[in-house]
Amino acid sequence: MTVELLSVGTEILLGNIVNTNAAYLSERCAALGLSCYHQSVVGDNEERLEETLQTALSRSDIVILSGGLGPTKDDLTKEVAARVFGRELHEDVHVKESISAYFQKMKRTQITENNWKQALVPEDARVVENHNGTAPGLILEDREAGKTVILLPGPPDELKAMFEESIAPYLDELEPEGIYSKMVKLCGIGESKAETVITDLMEVQTNPTIAPYAKLGEVHLRITAKAESEEKAEALILPVLEELRRRFGDLIYTEEEKESLEDVIVRILKEKKFTLTTAESCTGGKLAGRIMNVAGASGVYNEGYITYSNEAKSRLLGVAAGTLEQYGAVSPQTAREMAEGAAKAAGADAALSVTGIAGPDGGTKEKPVGLVYIGCSVKGHTRVEEFRFSGNREKNRDYAVVRALTLLREELNQY
Ligand code: ATP
Ligand code: MG
Repeated sequence: MTVELLSVGTEILLGNIVNTNAAYLSERCAALGLSCYHQSVVGDNEERLEETLQTALSRSDIVILSGGLGPTKDDLTKEVAARVFGRELHEDVHVKESISAYFQKMKRTQITENNWKQALVPEDARVVENHNGTAPGLILEDREAGKTVILLPGPPDELKAMFEESIAPYLDELEPEGIYSKMVKLCGIGESKAETVITDLMEVQTNPTIAPYAKLGEVHLRITAKAESEEKAEALILPVLEELRRRFGDLIYTEEEKESLEDVIVRILKEKKFTLTTAESCTGGKLAGRIMNVAGASGVYNEGYITYSNEAKSRLLGVAAGTLEQYGAVSPQTAREMAEGAAKAAGADAALSVTGIAGPDGGTKEKPVGLVYIGCSVKGHTRVEEFRFSGNREKNRDYAVVRALTLLREELNQY
């Protein structure tokens, strides 16, 4: 079944508010197994709303409208939808009662005349209760034409509560198949490389499908299956998952939707009972910050160093003045001494160091902007890698952080 979203409100067209209702509804509809091919926004204008609704109904089975159900004159969604379906509006006693009850509950005594506008319901419409406001939702069905219009209020808290409580179960009955997905997250491989590894799988895919998403320094693969139950979906997904495991092996750092790279690193450190420290130059604490995103990171991380100047690198990490002089601060030698010095100073089992030229200034022909050395020292064994990033200052620093985490994960997996 196809669903189409139509958001009503001049505020959205003017950019005064962000259309979060559409984002929420699309995600939920997709999860319910409905295909959404179109979304539109229309202002509080009767003719354009009617025209857009007609168009939506001509190409989709279900149209979900949001906004314009309120008591004021510019709220005209219900009137237009009723007209398009050829239904009269009648005052609904139950809705009228629940509006009075809502006003009493909110201790608002003054019900103005226009509030009763919300008690008007098109004939043969299903009324959807609103526990967070006065405007009820409405479902209009044209069984002969096989078309359905669902009207929901604009305020996101009202819309979401009504959707979860009443609309999702209703849609679930219309479309018994649901969408289930499984995530596979990779690090240490680029998006285009990852895609070439699975081109053959992607070419023949129908159910399930595999979709790659490039994240900063990571690639996420989402396997999505359409099935009547979670068990059936899992049975469809499993062979694909096993094939991905076979092809990507250790590059997969997690298969948990909510687990991040830093979560995995903290988990590994805890498993191995290792502590970690960091020595950062160009990333200025961003790397330590990523580790500290993880609740419980204090179990593996005691202290770290931001050593921006050469003097600080020597004083806090013991980088030899001769090394800095001979090779420079951005060099594999300095990265190595930073990592080893940090491990020693903090008494940690593992240490990561980052030194590089983030830009926009400071680059030379030999050492261009984006050149970064990352050192990783675990139990006295140190590895240094050179990277050449091509982003702006912010991107280069973020890439350096992900690469450092990736390198550490690789090294930790040796133990
Ligand atoms: P009300 O009874 O509050 O007038 P309504 O159903 O008439 O509700 P609108 O008047 O269109 O809805 O919008 C009310 C408020 O809800 C907006 O000011 C805005 O804050 C929020 N809102 C409306 N539409 C959206 C949307 N698509 N995404 C996010 N927020 C929205
Ligand atoms: Mg309104």
